[in-house]
Amino acid sequence: MRYISTRGHAAPQAFCDILLGGLAPDGGLYLPESYPQVSRAELDAWRQLSYADLAYEILSKFITDIPVADLKALVAKTYTAEVYCHTRNGGDAAQITPLTRLEDGLYTQELSNGPTLAFKDMAMQLLGNLFEYVLDKRNESINILGATSGDTGSAAEYAMRGKHNVKVFMLSPDGKMSAFQRAQMYSLQDANIFNIAVTGLFDDAQDIVKAVSNDAVFKAKYKIGAVNSINWARVAAQIVYYFQGYFLATKSNDEQVAFAVPSGNFGNICAGHIARQMGLPIARLVLATNENDVLDEFFRTGVYRPRKAVETSITSSPSMDISKASNFERFIFDLVGRDPAVVRELWARVDKGEAFDLSATVHWQKMPKFGFASGKSIHADRIKTIRFALGRYNVMLDTHTADGLKVALEHRLPNIPMIVLETAQPAKFEETIREALGTEPVRPADLAGIEKLPQRVVVMAPDVAAIKQFIVERV
Ligand SMILES: *Cc1c(COP(=O)(O)O)cnc(C)c1O
Repeated sequence: MRYISTRGHAAPQAFCDILLGGLAPDGGLYLPESYPQVSRAELDAWRQLSYADLAYEILSKFITDIPVADLKALVAKTYTAEVYCHTRNGGDAAQITPLTRLEDGLYTQELSNGPTLAFKDMAMQLLGNLFEYVLDKRNESINILGATSGDTGSAAEYAMRGKHNVKVFMLSPDGKMSAFQRAQMYSLQDANIFNIAVTGLFDDAQDIVKAVSNDAVFKAKYKIGAVNSINWARVAAQIVYYFQGYFLATKSNDEQVAFAVPSGNFGNICAGHIARQMGLPIARLVLATNENDVLDEFFRTGVYRPRKAVETSITSSPSMDISKASNFERFIFDLVGRDPAVVRELWARVDKGEAFDLSATVHWQKMPKFGFASGKSIHADRIKTIRFALGRYNVMLDTHTADGLKVALEHRLPNIPMIVLETAQPAKFEETIREALGTEPVRPADLAGIEKLPQRVVVMAPDVAAIKQFIVERV
């Protein structure tokens, strides 16, 4: 299997060659040159498999440059009940991503049972093991630099802690994350993890990462890398739980399901789109946004109009706060019949800060066959849905999953199970849960009192030169 760029001007690459990089050299995103197809016989056989065995079967269609035994071992050590131990609502940890039944034909799928209680662990844990494996083989090292306002940074740190040849430098806005999120990251004592609290906002931290990454000489000399959501291996890992959710919600492979996905950068739902392209019987993919409704607008109107994000203090589902959806280009590539010239033209506009409108094009006429629906949920909807789910189903939802359920209920299909992807646990968003329910969310027992653990973090001004120096002294 080889990987091509959505912009068509990069040489095809093998999986391990794109694993450690970000964008393709032409500015596009990598995708498989074609989507592997899953036969009915395979689907029938896969229904009986454990999560790790299913993950191996799916990933081996995308990863053909790691020996079978090695890939099997990497996947087996990633998807264990010990790593994904934070089940709730009576879920079976051995299933890794179990379903919670809300009512007949309506489920949540727990993707947030990993170490940081958010769905990013599903892919990031695999990425950690893949990075270590490939770097060991090649006798190389990498220094991951990132900026985080919460979920991504902690998932990256828990995936990379203690890994050979990997160091992580994670910038976060000083004092802007919740006490729980700070404790999650800053209490890590691993020698290869460096937390830098920048005196400023998330955007200041993000700007520093951009400035350092734009310095090509520094980047090459100090082997600076990233683990952001455009990383192909992250998308590939996420395909697996769509298959697992399908098998758990149905009795036979003649049935169809729908998924509702709380979306930000379009990474999670992009994996659902690919699962569907591979032949998984998904009748509908429901995209849910929060107040940052760039994607909802596109799926309703054909207009993609990136714009400044609404502040997190207003939205309360912070991991869906985006201005541009970084993985969206992958879907558009498929929608326009995989024509890189069209993608280049559309993104020339996006990169200038302009919108594009597909509504009057032949491409838009093909939308129905991709099976999407969309909707948005604002703070008041979120609060109402959290109350509703607890009252009606006795299930406590986090703020992102509440956005998903709100929109899912608007787009159910008769006689087709709807699976709402649970992207985080309520324990991560105590403040909003308190606002909605007047009570504290349940926190997994092993995370009780983590705010009291010693913390390992340095506070620095948002000064590019000083942060470069900090990195140089530690790599
Ligand atoms: C990252 C994240 C999302 C958004 O996922 P995308 O892949 O960016 O669409 C939704 N919910 C939570 C809790 C997240 O951490």
